[in-house]
Amino acid sequence: MGLVKATPARDPAALVPRKTKSKANGTKSKKAKKLKRQQEDQANPATRAGYALERLEPVNGTLAELYPDIVKCFGCNTCTKACPQELDVMWFMSDALRGDIKAVAEKSFDCVMCGLCAARCPQGLAPYNVARLARRLYGRYLAPASGQLDRRIEEIVRGDFDAALDELKQAGLDELKRRYAERDVEPALEQTWE
Ligand code: SF4
Ligand code: SF4
Repeated sequence: MGLVKATPARDPAALVPRKTKSKANGTKSKKAKKLKRQQEDQANPATRAGYALERLEPVNGTLAELYPDIVKCFGCNTCTKACPQELDVMWFMSDALRGDIKAVAEKSFDCVMCGLCAARCPQGLAPYNVARLARRLYGRYLAPASGQLDRRIEEIVRGDFDAALDELKQAGLDELKRRYAERDVEPALEQTWE
């Protein structure tokens, strides 16, 4: 994989006000501190937009409204090459531009929020923040309700697993290790823990 040197979209040092001390007492004024904080937030591509999920609408414009900088994406694909999860980051950014919340949520499902895409983006974007918002919107408003989850919650509340849990708490460490090693796993998740 070829490395692409990231060029910061803005120079944080250039945004820090030169005069941060008041003439009167030599301490930083509240205004200067607030300005510095705002400028640092703007210079940090990983800054997450503030929002209350329950007040958002899962509509086309929501992603771009909260992350207007996504229009700066010029499709260089650097983020995709940097992703250790082999996600199509550039493509879900393109979906985000089109406002397709479901596509962004599905394509970014395996994101581990490592931040490498943001660290590499020459436009100073943070794809993982956009994707996280899409997954939240999708999970809360668009994904079909899970009947299995409701059933499992009922079983837990009813106490169906209490006896098994009590029995596990009494088992020794070696017994727990043995059971863990012998548990049923999906083939894709099989691996050796040495
Ligand atoms: S934050 Fe997510 S999308 Fe970005 S590089 Fe890491 S795993 Fe990939
Ligand atoms: S998000 Fe950044 S790195 Fe990814 S394609 Fe757009 S401009 Fe390139």
